[in-house]
Amino acid sequence: MATSLYYDCLVVGGGASGFFTAIRLKEEAPQLSVCIVEGQQSTLGKVKISGGGRCNVTHILPETTENSTIPKALMGFYPRQYPQLLGHFINWSPQQMLDWLEKHGVPTHVEKDGRAFPASDDSGSIVHVFESACEAWGIPIRTGARVTDVVERSATEANPHLPTFQHAEAQFMLRLSNNTLIEAKTIVLATGSSESGYQLAEQLGLSLTPKVPSLFTFKIDDAELVELAGVSLPWVKGKLQFPKALQETFTKAVQKTIPKSGIVQEGAFLVTHWGVSGPVVLKLSAWGAFALEASQYQATFLLDSLPSLNDETIMTVLRDERVASAKKWIANACPFEALPKRWWVYLLNKAGIDEFTPWQEVGEKRAITQLCEVLKRLALPITGKGVFKEEFVTAGGVSLPSVNPNSLEAKTTAGCYVVGELLNVDGLTGGFNFHHCWASANTVACAIAVKEESSL
Ligand SMILES: Cc1cc2nc3c(=O)[nH]c(=O)nc-3n(C[C@H](O)[C@H](O)[C@H](O)COP(=O)(O)OP(=O)(O)OC[C@H]3O[C@@H](n4cnc5c(N)ncnc54)[C@H](O)[C@@H]3O)c2cc1C
Repeated sequence: MATSLYYDCLVVGGGASGFFTAIRLKEEAPQLSVCIVEGQQSTLGKVKISGGGRCNVTHILPETTENSTIPKALMGFYPRQYPQLLGHFINWSPQQMLDWLEKHGVPTHVEKDGRAFPASDDSGSIVHVFESACEAWGIPIRTGARVTDVVERSATEANPHLPTFQHAEAQFMLRLSNNTLIEAKTIVLATGSSESGYQLAEQLGLSLTPKVPSLFTFKIDDAELVELAGVSLPWVKGKLQFPKALQETFTKAVQKTIPKSGIVQEGAFLVTHWGVSGPVVLKLSAWGAFALEASQYQATFLLDSLPSLNDETIMTVLRDERVASAKKWIANACPFEALPKRWWVYLLNKAGIDEFTPWQEVGEKRAITQLCEVLKRLALPITGKGVFKEEFVTAGGVSLPSVNPNSLEAKTTAGCYVVGELLNVDGLTGGFNFHHCWASANTVACAIAVKEESSL
């Protein structure tokens, strides 16, 4: 029989949440032996590519947010609104994460919009600090070691065909893809959105909620639009609209995710080579993740290019411009500073107005009204999700009621903990997804350390 290795805690998955759990656990309980196993040949893959290579590590809320209200305010950036997150955010705040990084030699900077990055603007700094901490704490990292199977001690006692445990303290036996066996007293599932991680979770009795992509761009088949790739607007309002008949086919649970006023978000907007992107689109994809999936990504993106002005004001501005720029071609005299010229010309075309029309010839009824309509309610039909690798997170995963909210320990399986993206928690862009990784990792590390101490 093959001899198996033993660790007090085995972390399955060498991503952000796995590394941070292992390191925080050694900080809290240095006497424990901890190991990370990673299925790929290298670790921290998503950290490396995160934030466009800069790694948006967390999010600092505006100074006007009172300290005591920060944890609750943070919860507003997680579209599925999980009350269970409050405790984790109270125990590990964004500022604590920045302080931890600073203490470990990684200064950070916070941009105007609250996104925090390493001062180097290089995700390599975060990778390096985690790898160095593991080395300093003597945490072995076994790569190319996918966990394919896990059994609990109680199961082997009842089934003579299963391998017998060799270590008295061990509660779990894990088989790796290279056939190595590892035993552990506690295990932490930190497998992100991988299928094999979901299977392990189910094997351990955890229940899963449906999984759908979140944080993606919209594909829009409009040749004139995509010719404008690179054009951006600083602040727009976007709304998702689903055909009524289609919406009625959505399950009740999905229909509930659509407020009466529709799914509406504001933010910067960017035209891409295949459609539209930017914070407003990513936010809509997150809030509308389940409805969009149910519609097979067939919806209308209704765009308001001038959200701070109402129809009446816009009509007045347009009429005034007709007088002030009477002899100028309409393409050369846009009365709205926020609109780039190429966007203005695109909207003129959408309104059916020739760009070389002198303003004085722009008719009241059809042209001015139609122009106002496309400025406030341009309908862009979504035909799919963006085709590149901008799918940032998975919504859904291990259901929160199946874990203890204070420790993230599985209710069905004592000694098995869940962290990071594997949990049914997903946030908006801006550093919220990593913050959930750090906060859930801290919760689990502290819970294991406390349990260990109380068992002495
Ligand atoms: C392109 C991109 C950019 C992003 N940028 C940001 C950003 O700037 N800020 C932000 O907050 N969030 C960002 N995110 C989201 C963020 O990366 C994730 O929320 C985060 O990485 C989740 O961490 P995790 O450790 O839970 O899972 P993962 O990072 O997915 O790590 C899980 C690890 O487990 C391993 N694994 C899976 N199954 C097994 C198994 N059976 N045995 C052993 N190992 C296994 C996987 O190989 C993987 O390495 C970005 C995501 C993407 C895709």
